[in-house]
Amino acid sequence: MKYDYIIVGAGFAGSVMAERIASQLNKKVLLVEKRNHIAGNAYDEYDENGILVHLYGPHLFHTNSEKVFQYLSQFTEWNFYEHRVLAKLGDEYYPIPINKTTINRLYKMNLTTDDEVRKFLDSKKENRHPINNSEDVIVNQVGYDLFEKFFKHYTKKQWNLEPKELSPLVCGRIPVRFDTDDRYFSDKYQFMPKHGYTKMFKKMLNHKNIEVRLNTDFFDVMTEEKFDFLIYSGPIDQFFNYEFGKLPYRSMKFEFQNYKLDKYQPAAQINHVDMIAKITRTVEYRQITKQKADSTTVSIEYPQIDGEPFYPIPTEEHRELYLNYKAKSKELKDVLFCGRLAEYQYYNMDQVVANTLKMFDEHISNG
Ligand code: FAD
Ligand code: UDP
Repeated sequence: MKYDYIIVGAGFAGSVMAERIASQLNKKVLLVEKRNHIAGNAYDEYDENGILVHLYGPHLFHTNSEKVFQYLSQFTEWNFYEHRVLAKLGDEYYPIPINKTTINRLYKMNLTTDDEVRKFLDSKKENRHPINNSEDVIVNQVGYDLFEKFFKHYTKKQWNLEPKELSPLVCGRIPVRFDTDDRYFSDKYQFMPKHGYTKMFKKMLNHKNIEVRLNTDFFDVMTEEKFDFLIYSGPIDQFFNYEFGKLPYRSMKFEFQNYKLDKYQPAAQINHVDMIAKITRTVEYRQITKQKADSTTVSIEYPQIDGEPFYPIPTEEHRELYLNYKAKSKELKDVLFCGRLAEYQYYNMDQVVANTLKMFDEHISNG
């Protein structure tokens, strides 16, 4: 059989693209996925204790884009959920992002107005213009002490690089607040798919024009299948056989533990920010999904060099390497590169959806 499109990868990029092509263009799509499931890194499933967990770490949906929210709402209902995180430093817990409570608790003060907090941070922060890296972006807002306590060691563990070596976009993801707002994200829409991500993807891909083939590596079948156009959401360096060298990706090992408890930890997510703990995050899923059950499952994250590619590593050097691959990708007229691994961008889910919808409009539906 000949397909109009082959799409590589059943994560957000591949699945949104498949859905658009099938439903809007009425064209035939073969979606190949090397794992044994759809939904990419957003995949969730019930573990052996009946608890809904995210196999590749916690995925919290948040966006300011009404378009993205409306688009995904075709495939799921939502539960309102605002994520809250505590940073564990020694034996103490502090709200992260840094806010008024964090500062009062850490420095044993009693600042009351937001203006007092602003003035306090003004007295601590260092002028770091231009902002060249992830150390500058935090020290410029809160000074070195808070940076060292909450960002330096966590970042070193997560990326195996000093914050100084990373783009400001990495630590710059985390805001600083003068008030007591303790939400992790500030976006307008913050929800979890009511029945989980995998169910949402199932609905998105349930179309007569879409054939999903799991356990299939594209590179094993690319010469066998006939198609007019390819959409690729895997690692871009692999596509070009690492011609310019390997693009570094950060990996992660997830360990799951189940406890016969109603609640294991004081917040859905604990960031282990000191250098003593070797882990980065522990996440308790029932605090996110609000599932009722007689036990609770927690994931523990161990950042790794080797393993599946999860995070592009945003440094100047890697960006330059990526640009070589990008230039090469533009020479191919019947292949489109789309998604976190294919575009080597530290995208959130909503950014992947927004970008995929845009690419569909600009490159696919216009022929
Ligand atoms: P992926 O989800 O990685 O999908 C790519 C798919 O392609 C994979 O399933 C892969 O198996 C498949 N593939 C690759 N190569 C081949 C091949 N040769 N043949 C066949 N298949 C192939 N975003 C948020 O918005 N909120 C969060 O809270 C959040 N938390 C995260 C936590 C972690 C630990 C990680 C790693 C990411 C998190 N993200 C979060 C980011 C989110 O996972 C991504 O933005 C999104 O999943 C990217 O979708 P994608 O389709 O580009 O890539
Ligand atoms: N970060 C940190 N301490 C924290 C939270 C975040 O140092 O308590 C830094 C760290 O480098 C992390 C980055 O900020 O990788 C972005 O954090 P985010 O929670 O957005 O990471 P993700 O969810 O993408 O893993």
